[in-house]
Amino acid sequence: MSPMTDRLTADCSRCAGLCCVALPFAASADFAVDKAAGTPCHHLQPDCRCGIHAGLREAGYPGCTVYDCFGAGQQVVQVTFGGRDWRANPELADSMFAVFPVVRVLHELLFYLEEARAHPAAAPLSDALEAAFAETDRLAAGTPEELAALDVEAHRRSVADLLGRVSDLARAGGRGPDHRGARLLGARLRGSDLRRASFRGALLVGADLRGADLRGADLLGADLRGADLAGADLREALFLTAAQVAAARGDTSTRLPPTLARPGHWAAARAPRRRHPARR
Ligand code: SF4
Ligand code: SF4
Repeated sequence: MSPMTDRLTADCSRCAGLCCVALPFAASADFAVDKAAGTPCHHLQPDCRCGIHAGLREAGYPGCTVYDCFGAGQQVVQVTFGGRDWRANPELADSMFAVFPVVRVLHELLFYLEEARAHPAAAPLSDALEAAFAETDRLAAGTPEELAALDVEAHRRSVADLLGRVSDLARAGGRGPDHRGARLLGARLRGSDLRRASFRGALLVGADLRGADLRGADLLGADLRGADLAGADLREALFLTAAQVAAARGDTSTRLPPTLARPGHWAAARAPRRRHPARR
């Protein structure tokens, strides 16, 4: 694993359960109970480990199995706050919980920029990508005060524009259908030719994508929870994350980019399809 990939991969052993405290969640198909932001989940142990880690899905918390902080957790604890945590230093809790989502956005952008930098089609944008990467990295290393004051959404929009240009270059020469931001909940797309389509920010919750050809499709930010990818071909898909794949359903015939592992739960016997899995 490269040092940057390592940095952008969650290391819960160097965090303090930040996602289990800082974030709110609503009782749904993904979380068994409501939890307010800044309140520890009642399954969080004193050592900041999850008390039901081995049985999250069975206990009604599948949303926890697909959450990815892109390494923001250990960055906030170890770098932003110099190794201090909210349990030993409760006076830091509010500040730590406030900056965690900001750093998560920045780390997610770094993850996409890392992929974009390595894409051969992005060569004409290499200078812009290097500059965006350096600036995002600089922002992520900010102090708690700097992070709290940052307009992270403005920075996200700026990087998203650049990533959109990368996507256009990568999908040139036969761009597929444009489904950016589309609401495709439960859509029947079985066996569809979706090569080099854009599903950027699309809602594909519970969509039937069995056997679909998604080679080279842009899936940045697409919500794939409960989408059925059995037999689908996602090789060369752009900006697809492990968390998106884990939130979807698939089988041994689903073809993934080489950087992504097949989720362990895909190998299990298929459960009956849910029609509209709720938001996590
Ligand atoms: S915030 Fe990230 S590193 Fe921390 S516990 Fe959650 S997933 Fe692990
Ligand atoms: S169930 Fe476990 S992983 Fe999920 S929020 Fe609670 S402590 Fe964290």
